[in-house]
Amino acid sequence: MEKKGRDPSTAIQLFRTFVQPILTYGLEVILPTSQNLLKLEKNQKKLLKQILSVPISAPDSSIYILSDILPIEAQIDQKSLNLFNNICNQNEENLEKKIARRQLIAKNEDSKSWFIAIKRVLFKYNLQSPILLLNDPPTKHLWKKSVRIAIDRYWKNVLIQKSCTYKSLKYLGTSNFSPGNCHTLLSIGNTSDPTREAVRISVKLKVITDTYILQSHRSRYNLNETPICKLCDIDIEDRSHCLLKCKILQCIRERYLNQIDEFISDFLNFRIRDIPTDDHMQIILNCTVLLSRYINDIHLIQRIEDISRQLIYALHVVRYRTLYIKKR
Ligand SMILES: [Zn+2]
Repeated sequence: MEKKGRDPSTAIQLFRTFVQPILTYGLEVILPTSQNLLKLEKNQKKLLKQILSVPISAPDSSIYILSDILPIEAQIDQKSLNLFNNICNQNEENLEKKIARRQLIAKNEDSKSWFIAIKRVLFKYNLQSPILLLNDPPTKHLWKKSVRIAIDRYWKNVLIQKSCTYKSLKYLGTSNFSPGNCHTLLSIGNTSDPTREAVRISVKLKVITDTYILQSHRSRYNLNETPICKLCDIDIEDRSHCLLKCKILQCIRERYLNQIDEFISDFLNFRIRDIPTDDHMQIILNCTVLLSRYINDIHLIQRIEDISRQLIYALHVVRYRTLYIKKR
């Protein structure tokens, strides 16, 4: 599945269609133990990180937010709640429905009964009690919709809260996160060369998850390494130094920032270079978060995303080339 250069949003779609059903096949019937759930989750995370070309050290919440794929636990919960609805909609005389009633009344909360587990899942997502659902079952269509909404809401909160604990993910833009929708950062837009765009996306995803290795990262893990930028020898090389400040990369940066300024000048009365560092970083790393407050045109926002992606890729190439020449 993983192949450098493959468009990540298509790869995510393929994952959703072909891999996800296999990973969770039949698990709504035999709910996995927490240990097995962890193993499945580990596999899913590994595959998603490969698709997004981010290292295994990237925070898990970031890859769920970027891929819009929910954790395995959410997927199994969804399937098991839909199965429970099938049982609720059965005839009263049906054996499964009879067992459901009997177990929900007779078994205590610690029981390993499938129906008691469903009761806990319903409670987790703030849905109706199982007895109420058995007595007055919603239609399949209506139930699927409410389950989807409840699960999305629950996991959106969990993932946003988790990602907020990472300072490195501050520009990821969790406020726009909506499970099931392709993240703008993954969208290749109208490019004529999807392979080239995919390479650019992979660099940007590393930068936004702060797993793109700069001197400040190197020095954290290796005492012999200096955090000072090896291009300019002036400042600590962290994300903002590399993206906004390093003098050696200034001319390449200018070209793209001018293009962004041209696009946004019709809507905003500031130039990107005049705004605070944090906002400047936000526009370069994930402009949707900030610009969607002022600009309604998603095509324009996508265009600015394309330019910022080109900017980051150009900085990456020039940085590597310069370091290589300096080494020689
Ligand atoms: Zn520098």
